[in-house]
Amino acid sequence: MLADPGRTHYDLHFRVLGFPVRVHPWFWLGTALMGSRTLDAGVEFLLAWIAVVLVSLLVHELGHALAFRRYGSDAEILLFAFYGLAIPTHEVFGRRKRIIISLAGPFAGFVLCGLVYGSNVALGWADPGAPHQVFYLYRTLILVNLLWGLMNLLPVYPLDGGQVSRELCGMMWSNRGKRISLKISFGCAVLMIAYSIFCVLDDRGVGAGFTGRLPWWFPPGSVFTAILFGFFAYHNYQELGRTTWTDTHWDDRLPWAR
Ligand SMILES: [Zn+2]
Repeated sequence: MLADPGRTHYDLHFRVLGFPVRVHPWFWLGTALMGSRTLDAGVEFLLAWIAVVLVSLLVHELGHALAFRRYGSDAEILLFAFYGLAIPTHEVFGRRKRIIISLAGPFAGFVLCGLVYGSNVALGWADPGAPHQVFYLYRTLILVNLLWGLMNLLPVYPLDGGQVSRELCGMMWSNRGKRISLKISFGCAVLMIAYSIFCVLDDRGVGAGFTGRLPWWFPPGSVFTAILFGFFAYHNYQELGRTTWTDTHWDDRLPWAR
């Protein structure tokens, strides 16, 4: 589902903490498209948006990569449009280890979020009176790492939470676990689609202003999340059709390792 799109001549290569990082050209295009509304405020807001997504996605994948290294595998980081991958060089055996690897990504984002928040409490660099651009940078860093991290922990495959759920279901129900986790995943994805459509309609004045009363840290639904979870639900449904109760030969490898 989320696969390595392959190398191109326009890839950007660099290393962080010894891990090779590859930024696919679609990363820049997809991220700019997602943040195109910031252009109304000025081109510097769009550049700040792209920088925030680059750093946040990189920190998230570094969390996974460091966990892979902890369990004896090296990893390559790929940043693509709307998602990143930490591709291990060796398979890691053991459900407990794979759960920690999956959780390490969102956890790294929460640490970054805490550092950004803490540095502002200590130094006040984004307090009222700071330039709009600086405050935008601060707010976006906090929101992207917090909201994407929380959404990523939903038990929907192939999100990190979906991978944790698959491992947990495998621990509890062994061979039947994958099918149970796919059903949970499909159900949650459908609920997210319904929630996203509700939020979009509510935002347009059809509802009773429910989205305006959500706490600021609660991920809001949008057209983007409706499409994203629609895509996940479709793939989960297809995979459910391919997986039977009696099938004991699960392909438990992650999508990019198949
Ligand atoms: Zn992740």
